[in-house]
Amino acid sequence: MRTYLIAYIVCDFNSVSGTTSSGVKVSVYTSAGKWSKKHYALEASLKLLDFYEHYFGINYPLHKLDLVAIPDFESGAMENWGLITYQKTSLLFDPKTSSVSDRLWVTKVIVHELAHQGACISNILKDLLSKEKFQEGIIHYLKKFSYGNAKNDDLWSSLSNSCLGNFTSGGFYYSGSKMTSCTLAFLGEDVEVKEMMTTWTLQRRIPLIVIGQKGRSLRLQ
Ligand SMILES: [Zn+2]
Repeated sequence: MRTYLIAYIVCDFNSVSGTTSSGVKVSVYTSAGKWSKKHYALEASLKLLDFYEHYFGINYPLHKLDLVAIPDFESGAMENWGLITYQKTSLLFDPKTSSVSDRLWVTKVIVHELAHQGACISNILKDLLSKEKFQEGIIHYLKKFSYGNAKNDDLWSSLSNSCLGNFTSGGFYYSGSKMTSCTLAFLGEDVEVKEMMTTWTLQRRIPLIVIGQKGRSLRLQ
């Protein structure tokens, strides 16, 4: 655990609690008078923690997870280990007065903060590699480097390794014969996962795609 994730709170808030299918006690805390607004957050957190444990094949490591709505909290939320703090509007949902977009916002913030308790993921690679291979690579990466240090390259290697061997996905054919641990044959060209992803993670701004026209055909670069 990173040291900046340690937090403790002394307060007279009240809470509602529930238990996930793996036995983790999840509680949502607010100041007095907000009783009915806590239930959506609890219901969503219980479902999401179950989902993450199942998806990553890794159990949440603590016996409890607290979500606390703080009055006048500056940022949207903060992912302290086992004690996530939220701005009130990012956690509380009143079924009588809140809107659908409020509900969506609360859900998004909870999804984001609970992912910090497990991992961050990249949708770009998921689409490219296929759902199954991406999940396999992420699980490999999280298990191999849990409670240790990792570099960007370690993630790219885990994801590339999950794709070794021939398979067809999303209409693209990946050839096993050309692969090294970090290379995929993609639409007839060798693609380095690391090379492709660093254009998103290390390069400033977003990657530039140039489309040229020659007669009736287009060339993407
Ligand atoms: Zn975050």
